[in-house]
Amino acid sequence: MAYSVKEIYYTLQGEGAYAGRPAVLLRFAGCNLWSGREQHRSDSVCRFCDTDFVGTDGPGGGKFRTAAELAAAVDSAWPDGKVAAGRYVVCTGGEPLLQLDAAAVAALHDTGFEVGVETNGTITPPQGIDWLCVSPKGAAEVVQRQGDELKLVYPQREQEAQPEQFSDLAFRHFFLQPLDDEDLDANTRAALDYCLQHPQWRLSLQIHKLLGIA
Ligand code: SF4
Repeated sequence: MAYSVKEIYYTLQGEGAYAGRPAVLLRFAGCNLWSGREQHRSDSVCRFCDTDFVGTDGPGGGKFRTAAELAAAVDSAWPDGKVAAGRYVVCTGGEPLLQLDAAAVAALHDTGFEVGVETNGTITPPQGIDWLCVSPKGAAEVVQRQGDELKLVYPQREQEAQPEQFSDLAFRHFFLQPLDDEDLDANTRAALDYCLQHPQWRLSLQIHKLLGIA
């Protein structure tokens, strides 16, 4: 299959358990919970997205005809001269599981990458993923109920994704990440308070924003 990719670049993973880890970020175009157009935001299942995932015009972006072509583009984003150990790619979006299939995972493995995925949890992933992060959004049904980390933007609307809905699921790590809107300070305080009262949960800060990097 062909893959539509917004951007591919080398950076630090900004969130969750692997925050601070060097990685190639592979951002697939498109999402099933929002069109990415501002005029649709208020009517979408997910209304607080902070990411441009529309089109293929970002750095390293494009359309890749095969899994091998996609893996080669990820490989070329890893800096020359860096040791092979620790090569890590974060597949994100948009919703990466609209496109990431077993062939792409295998091709990325063949080029020496550990494969991480950040998904909204509404699509069952292919086999072979090394690190699976599920981030439930709004009222969307979460079908992927196990993985490595569950990372919840907090707070979300009442009746929508709440920590209590997910605390019994089979994840190794549970993170609350403050909602980055005009109330970020209050949201951070609320997330911090929730973690202090429910130590199963840890606070995830978006360090790429704190550092001012992409
Ligand atoms: S599910 Fe993720 S990528 Fe899709 S609109 Fe929401 S935050 Fe953005």
